[in-house]
Amino acid sequence: MITAYTLFSGSGGNCIYVKDGKTEILIDAGKSALSVEKSLASVATSTENISAIFVTHEHSDHISALEVISKKYQIPIHITSPSLDFISRSSKYIQKNAVEHCVKYEQSIGSLHLSSFAIPHDSVQNVGYRITSDDGDTLGIATDMGHVTSEIKESLFGCRNVIVESNHDRDMLIYGRYPDFLKSRILSENGHLSNEDCASLVCALANAGTINFTLAHLSRENNTPEAAFFASRNALDKCGFNNVYLGIASPTCAVMVTDPISCGKVI
Ligand SMILES: [Zn+2]
Ligand SMILES: [Zn+2]
Repeated sequence: MITAYTLFSGSGGNCIYVKDGKTEILIDAGKSALSVEKSLASVATSTENISAIFVTHEHSDHISALEVISKKYQIPIHITSPSLDFISRSSKYIQKNAVEHCVKYEQSIGSLHLSSFAIPHDSVQNVGYRITSDDGDTLGIATDMGHVTSEIKESLFGCRNVIVESNHDRDMLIYGRYPDFLKSRILSENGHLSNEDCASLVCALANAGTINFTLAHLSRENNTPEAAFFASRNALDKCGFNNVYLGIASPTCAVMVTDPISCGKVI
């Protein structure tokens, strides 16, 4: 059975901790090595126990802790070639631990089996992950998503747990104080996913069997946890999925994303 936490989530930094039995991995490592260390301590583990780090893409909110972690630890960093090429220009230690992949790849670490899929975003490359444990439990992860493709849906279909981006409320963004170029970037096909588009994806995935969602990578400026929650909750309820669990990742502290009953955060 997979246990996972978003350690922190949002434009300030992203890191997801995934465990199955003795296998512990991270998806992304944003903020700082110290922040990752402290967050791991809050879920009763440490960086020494991490067997691998999987990178979604090269934006700083997903990789800013990697250089210091790589200097101190010999943890393999699984990353696509375009993202690694980009990072290598400004890093010395990440490269020595890097394991390069093409956009669609499969990798097993202990009892966890990961397969990647492409996500449209304004990075040189961005991937999501479908993670399966030896006992058949599943966790899907898709953030920093300009729009939802059929490949994304197919890759997440049937996952028991899904972490999905619910970045912004469209009206808050359009009428907010961001400059026009930034609004256009976020709203573009390669930007970030709105609450409305997230709600549609969540319903499609609930229809395919997902029972537990965590909304992630919420904009601090153009969203609120309440707006993100109610967009997806209302959509799920309208589709008859009243008993599907919906939680919200925190920008600052660990939130369990695989146990709807005891530890997930509900608004
Ligand atoms: Zn991001
Ligand atoms: Zn990004």
